[in-house]
This record gives sequence, C-alpha cells and structure tokens, in this order.
Amino acid sequence: MHVLGDSIPFALSEADKRVYEPRAVPLGKNCGCVCPGCRQPVIAKHCMSGKRAPHFAHAAGYDCASGFETALHLAAKQLIETRGVLAFPELIASIKVWDDMGHVHEPALQLVTGGLRRLCNVVLEKSLGQIRPDLRVDADGLGTVLVEVAVTHFVDDRKLKQIRHMGIPALEIDLSMCRDATFAALEVALFDKPSGTTKWLYHPGLAEAECRLRESLRDVLSAATESAEARARSRAEIDAAERIEEAARQAEREVRRRTEEARQADTEAARLKEVAERKRITDEAQRIQRYEDLKKAAVFKARPEERKRQAVLSRLGRSQLPAFLAAKVRGAMSFGVEETLLWQVTLFGGLVHQQPAKGNGWIGRNYARAWMRYRFPVPQALHKDANDAIDDYLMALAVNGALIACRNNSYAITVADLTCFETLIAIRNSRNFDPGRLQWTPKEEWPTEQQAWTVAEGMSPNLSAAGRWFKLASEMHRNIGFPPIVICEWGSQVGGTKESVANYLVRAGYLRLAPNGAAAVTR
Ligand SMILES: [Zn+2]
Repeated sequence: MHVLGDSIPFALSEADKRVYEPRAVPLGKNCGCVCPGCRQPVIAKHCMSGKRAPHFAHAAGYDCASGFETALHLAAKQLIETRGVLAFPELIASIKVWDDMGHVHEPALQLVTGGLRRLCNVVLEKSLGQIRPDLRVDADGLGTVLVEVAVTHFVDDRKLKQIRHMGIPALEIDLSMCRDATFAALEVALFDKPSGTTKWLYHPGLAEAECRLRESLRDVLSAATESAEARARSRAEIDAAERIEEAARQAEREVRRRTEEARQADTEAARLKEVAERKRITDEAQRIQRYEDLKKAAVFKARPEERKRQAVLSRLGRSQLPAFLAAKVRGAMSFGVEETLLWQVTLFGGLVHQQPAKGNGWIGRNYARAWMRYRFPVPQALHKDANDAIDDYLMALAVNGALIACRNNSYAITVADLTCFETLIAIRNSRNFDPGRLQWTPKEEWPTEQQAWTVAEGMSPNLSAAGRWFKLASEMHRNIGFPPIVICEWGSQVGGTKESVANYLVRAGYLRLAPNGAAAVTR
C-alpha cells in the first residue's frame, strides 16, 4: 500500500477530533481537517472527474511520511469503537502426535467460535503495564481482549512476550492488504466473517487445551506403546526361533558334510586297498612270469647248438632259419654257436616276432644285451664283443625296416612278426614291385587291434599320425571284398601314397605277398 504524504484517505476534523472521508467534509482548504500523522492542515479533494479516488492532500511540496498509515489506523479504531462489534476468528487448539505403532493422532478442541461479537468497554491507546495496545475491549463470552491494528508495523516478539506475561487474549488485525482505504472497505475487513485478516496472537487457554488434548490421548498412546512392545517381543521371539532353526539346519548340514567326508574316506581307503591288491597280483604274476622266462632261458642256454636250432624253428613255425634275417656284424662269434644266423634269428624271434600283438612296441638296447646273455653262454672276455654284435644287429634290423632307432638307445618295433618282415623285405628287394601281387592275409590270421595299434604307433612320429593309420586299419574288415590294390589306392585319398598305405597294411599283417607266379587276385 502506498504511503505517499500527498494522498491521505482520512483526515482528522479539528472540530470533533474524529476522522472523516474526503466526501464527508467541505471541499478544498475549507475542509477543517488536519493530517492524522503530522497534524498539518490538509486539502479535501473530491475528484469528481473519476481519475483519482477522493483523498486529502498536504499543501504542495510538504513531505509527510506518517499520514497514510496513521489515518488508516485511526479510522479502523474509530470504526470499532463506534460500532461496538468486531469479527473474531475461530481459535482451535490442536496437537499432532505419533504413537509407537507409527499412527498419527490429531485431536482438536475449539476454544473460540468464529464470528461477530459485541464489545463493551472499548479503550483506545491506553497503556497496560509496559505495552500500549491499540484497543482493549471486553468481548461477549471472551472477556478482555487486546486488539492490535497493523498496517506496516506488526506486533514484535518483545510485545508478544509482554502479552503472554499478562495472560490476556490478543488479536492482530492486518490491514496491509486492504486495497481501498475507505470506511466501506474497512468494514468488510473488520466486521465480515470469516475474517481472513484477523488472527489470534495469543490465548491463555491454548496451552491448557493442548494439555487436555495430550491427556485425552494418554490411554490411546499407552495402548499403542503396549502393542508396539508386544510386536517387538513377538518379533524377537520369531527371530530367536529362526536362529534356533538355522542353528539346527547348520548342525544338520555339518552332520551331512561329516558323513559324506567319512563315506569318501571309506571309498578312498577301499580304492587304495583295491589298487594295492591289484598291484600285488600283477607283481606276483610278473614275478612268476619272470621266473618262468628265466627258467626257460636257462634251459635254452644249456642246450647244444642243434637243440637250440630246433627250438627256434619250432617257435617260428619254419623248417629253416630264414636267411633274410642274417646280417654281418662285429663280434658275431661271441655267442658260443657255430652258425651266426642262429643267435640272430633267436634275437628276432624273442624280441620282435609277435611282440606287437602283446603290446610290446619297444626294445631297449641294454634289455636286448641281458636277454641274450640269459640264452647264450658268453665268456666274460667276450662280453664287449657280444654287446657290439647285438648293437650292430639291432641297427641292421632298423636298416632293413623291422625297427626304427629312437632316443635313449631304444628301438620302436615296426613289423608285427616274421612273415610281415619277410614280405616287407621281398617288396623292398623287388626291382619293379607289382602291388598286384599283394593279397589279403586269411581272415583268421588278421592282426588284433593291439597289434595294428602298436605297429602304427611304432611307425609314426606322433599319436595323431598313428591314430590315422589305426583308423584305416579298423575299417579294413569292410574292405576285404575288394582287391588290396584298390584299397591301397582308396586309402591314399585319406592320406599318404598308395605305397605308404600298402607299407602299413603289410607291416601290421593285413596284406602279404602271393607266392611267386601265383595270381594274387581273380577279377
Ligand atoms: Zn501529515
């Protein structure tokens, strides 16, 4: 609201010391009024043109800061005093309390009903203790009430404290938002209900009412507290029960775990016992076998040369010592036999012939030396010569294709038996070998899987190569209806040449050579 000194809504009549609106007094300087703020004469302006509302003004150039506010203040007090009524706002005591169950309670109690009340004994601007309220009234049903009228100056903390101290109910009427400074507008603000501009500053009954409200909740709150405690107790009981159950489950798991551990330990013990038992049996069998072998070797060793020859021929199923096994070596005469070929055939027959079928794919040089010494009497002086002879002979077998020299003075066996080796030699010795001369070995003499695998392994630099040969071999039973040469050519599509396929099939024992001149295949 503007507070310009040259526009005052009400002026104070010098005649009766009451405030008037501009229209209620004579126009102009003869209005007989002064400014309520500065008490200087003012001019009444009725402004019939309608451009401005009627107002009072100071003399031109006079600056007054308090005229407007004081005029409004006085006008409001004068209205209240004259009418002897005032609109009181409703006063409700209320509290908001959360109980222990989390519910909110908002009980309320009406201390004052809103509305117009008759006033008697209206006292203006009279000091009361340390304060000077704008009005002190006795209102119907309320007793003494202090009334403050505020335009720009509202009740401050200090004054409010004094009011509380005195214990008298107090109202504040806020006119700061009163747009039209006329008696008509002030009447609306002061006497219409409900009054939006008037509020209770203080009421001595409020604290007691709030106490009563709090008291009224006592039973409800304590019931809620009991419920909350009961709920907490029951929660604690449930928690405790759950802890007990969990402990029981934990114990059960522990028992199961230990039982399982014990079972596994038993199983492991049983397994170890079984392994030990198998090893004992195997060791025993090997010991017996070794003993038997040594016994046979000793019997063989004691025999004269001719009996040795017969034993070897019998073992190989031949009538003559196979001449293709002969090789020129150092120390050939170290074995106490006239015929060099005899010990050579014995070595081949004992260490190479049919060994792949037993899974023996290797010959160690030292083993061969010892093996021979168990079967032929070699004088101490000839030990070195005998060793040279054996080394040379193993080398010769390797050169001829029965063995392949490997690391650590050992040899891989690459022919299944004497017949396979014989076939291999014949093929190697033929200037123009005709693969058509190869024929299937009779089915009943076919190599075992062990034999086919051991030869493949001996021939191959690595297991995957051996695996390819073995795969070829394991499919051979399907091919027996075809001529071998067809199978060798077919096999070469899988890997290698037809010669290399033939080479493996001969070494493993699937193919052999037809007798000279015989037609190998009838087409
Ligand atoms: Zn003034």
